[in-house]
Amino acid sequence: MNQVEQILSKYREFGEYLQTIDLNELRQNYTRQELTEFRKQLYGVELRSIAYEVVQMIDEMKKEEYPELLGVHHYPILRKIDFLSEDEKKKLDDFLPAIRPNNYVTGLWRVAGSEKSNQIEQFLIDNNVVEEKHFALCPNCWDEHISSSLTNKQREQLEAILADGEDEDRYEKLAGILLYGCGECHEEFDFDELNQLQYKTVLKLIMERDTSLDDV
Ligand SMILES: [Zn+2]
Repeated sequence: MNQVEQILSKYREFGEYLQTIDLNELRQNYTRQELTEFRKQLYGVELRSIAYEVVQMIDEMKKEEYPELLGVHHYPILRKIDFLSEDEKKKLDDFLPAIRPNNYVTGLWRVAGSEKSNQIEQFLIDNNVVEEKHFALCPNCWDEHISSSLTNKQREQLEAILADGEDEDRYEKLAGILLYGCGECHEEFDFDELNQLQYKTVLKLIMERDTSLDDV
């Protein structure tokens, strides 16, 4: 029997023994105090998790074999950034995969502080890692969204409609984009009076990460 087979066989043997233990029997035969003492003794036994240790070791071996795993690799485009240190780029590369594509990116300040987060946002927008989504805000309370999420182009179109007081279909066009009233402050909007809006802008992750090193 080789080493791996021997470990597996002992592991299985112990696993099978554990399966045979009937907790109801313990309950019938021992008092709560005795079982409390038993629990302490059980926790006192150091039981190695070979599976866990092997996972760690495989990970180390993989990094030795593919040193690129130690640097930016989920989003190789981040290597182009010239305003972050290597550590900060690596942090950003580890931060983004926690967000699934089509979800919003928040908390970028955690990567390199709030001062650099605007620069990071701009880089991600310029390189199509994320796209901007805009929500028109209630002109009365500035708190509630009164449109669904708008792309840059849709926002431009909305602004063009708002700016054009002569457009005969203005009301209908606005009604297709904006709510008639605010769910928060209950203000009702007069589309004929509306000519400017404030927006809340969020970033949506659109680029898939590079997975080529996942299963090497
Ligand atoms: Zn409102």
